[in-house]
Formats: sequence, structure tokens, C-alpha cells
Amino acid sequence: MSHQICSRCIMDTTDPKITFDADGVCSHCHSYDAVEKTWPLKTYLAEDKISQVLEKVKTSKSGQYDSIVGLSGGVDSSYVAYLAHQHGLNPLCVHLDNGWNSELAVSNIHNIVKKLNFDLHTHVIDWNEFRSLQRAFFKAHVVDIEVLSDHAIFAVIINLAKKHNIKYVLSGANFATEAVMPKSWVHRKQDLKNIRHINKLYGELPMKTFPQASTLRHVLLMYGLGYKVMKPLNYIDYNKKEAMQLLKDKFDWRPYGGKHYESLFTKFYQAHILPNKFNIDKRKAHLSTLVLSKQMTREEALEELSKPLYDPEELEQDKAYVLKKLGLTPEWFEDYMKAPPRSHYEFKSDEKTFQFLALIRDRFFGASVS
Ligand SMILES: [Zn+2]
Repeated sequence: MSHQICSRCIMDTTDPKITFDADGVCSHCHSYDAVEKTWPLKTYLAEDKISQVLEKVKTSKSGQYDSIVGLSGGVDSSYVAYLAHQHGLNPLCVHLDNGWNSELAVSNIHNIVKKLNFDLHTHVIDWNEFRSLQRAFFKAHVVDIEVLSDHAIFAVIINLAKKHNIKYVLSGANFATEAVMPKSWVHRKQDLKNIRHINKLYGELPMKTFPQASTLRHVLLMYGLGYKVMKPLNYIDYNKKEAMQLLKDKFDWRPYGGKHYESLFTKFYQAHILPNKFNIDKRKAHLSTLVLSKQMTREEALEELSKPLYDPEELEQDKAYVLKKLGLTPEWFEDYMKAPPRSHYEFKSDEKTFQFLALIRDRFFGASVS
């Protein structure tokens, strides 16, 4: 397929599954419109739905906490913590220390929980085990190395929810700033079987302490038998720029210069590995969502996209740091970058279990953005 860019957002044929209609509008735009139809934001705002749903969370409390908030230090999760405070909730804030968090992220998180007077639980992952897992994912040449951190935080949250008898997880995931993401650019975070198999083939250490939760456990706990994930940002008119400004003003929060750059690894992965090995520039998805939710014009998004992903000097510094920390030689890394990507599905996966459970979920519980 020759290169084509959507006439409405800025997604293009670097998503191999993208399709375009006669007007050149892409499939992501059409799915966005379809979901937006099921998302009556105006009604939510008029009815102050956010107060209603968070009141439900508040009254569900049976122990010390009414909810859990996973805090990465990024805009979305920080803003959720702020909302929880505004509505009188007492969440347990959870942070994952995987060895890659920037000092800025740690200081942002501490500022927020201190000012809001929330408890913070920091789960420190065994670094040797995590490094072995990350190295294994490099050797497997699969696209989603971040599955590891995302899986771990999910698992930590599930375990804490169970331990403290907490019914609600407040997630920073949201439609207004995250709706567009090609399936082939990421892998499903709950796929423990995939992580285990890749570690078995390429890992140097067994997964002894790495936080784990299978798809089955996750789905069982989420639907009926335990906690519920709530996405408060979907009930408000969530605007990225305004949220950032509020965090700066109230919490002395400082920005990272890119979505998910609160982790040094994530920055290197998104701004160097993904574009150069996998031909994926995630800014296209992030910016397209902002265009579709009218927080940015298409021209502004294209302008932003034309900026270089990395300052050359900074890239060299970050590369040296990441490779040293992972114990990879520059020669090995160069070969890695040139080698063709492999699909997650070349390895074992619990996708079939998930598909089956999703079918049951949609049949009995319905699916929606909230
Ligand atoms: Zn589009």
C-alpha cells in the first residue's frame, strides 16, 4: 500500500490495518464517531454525572479506602487523584517503581499525595527480575515491551484491592485523549501467558516475584466477583491543556515533554525504538485523538508531528544510559534495531481465553466507554 494520511485526523498507513473511505477519512475516525454516539457527554455534564458516580464509589467503602488510583505521575492519573479529592474520596494511591521512573515523576507524585493527604503505596519491582524480563522482550523482537510494566501495575492493583476489600479502581484511561490506538502497535496487557512464554524462551531468571494476574483472574475479579474499573475522565469535559495547567498551579506539577515520558525507558522506547525498529510513531495516535476531541486542529497536530522525536545529543545520552542499565552492548543493540520485528502471536498467548471471556462479558454486562 502506498503511503496515505487521513484527511480528518493524522493517522496514516503506518497502521497496516487502516482503511479509508471515499473522502479519505480513516477507520479510526469512523470508530471514534461510533463510540462518541454511545457517550452522551452533554447529558453527563448537565446531570453532573461525575458526582453521582463518585458518590457511589464513596459509599461503597467498607475499610479504610473507597478506591484505588494507579499514579504514574502523568497528567491523566494525576488529574484523577485531584478529582477524587474534589469529591471527598479517600483512595489508596499506588505507584509502581520499575527502576525507570524519572526523578521528576517521583517528585510530582509525592507533591500530589502530600497536598491531597492521600496514602501512597509504592511497589518496588525486583530489578534483576524486571531487567531479565525486559531483555527477554528485546530478544523476542516483539513490539510491546511496555506490557511488562502495565501488566505489573494491573496485578499490584488487583492484589491490593482484594487485600483492602476495595471495590473501585479509578483509572486515568479516557476517551477524549486516548481513543485512537492501532491494535498492532500494542499488545493486550493482561496476556500473562505471552509474558511467561517469552521469559521461558529468552529470560535469564524465573518470574518469582514479578506481579502477575492471568486474564481469567482479571476478568473474574472485574465482572461480578470483585472490583470495578471506573474511568472518571469520561464523565467530564476532559481537556489535556487545562488539566496540565491546573496540576501546575495546584501541585507544582512539572511536565515531561511527551506523553508517558515520566519513565526514562518509555521515552527511549517511544521516541527511538518504536519509530526506528517498528516504524511506529505513537504521537500520531495521541495527536489524532486530540484532533477528534477538538482539543487541537489538524494543522496544529501536523506541526507538532513535524518536530523531531529526539534531540541528537539527548538521544546519545539516553541510549548510553538505557543500554548500560539493561546490560546490552551497543553492537547488540544495533543488530536488534536492524532485525525484523516478530509478532506477539508467534509466542503462546491467552488470546482465545480472552476472546471467549469478552464474548460472555459483552453478552451479560454490555460494553461501554464508561
Ligand atoms: Zn482519521
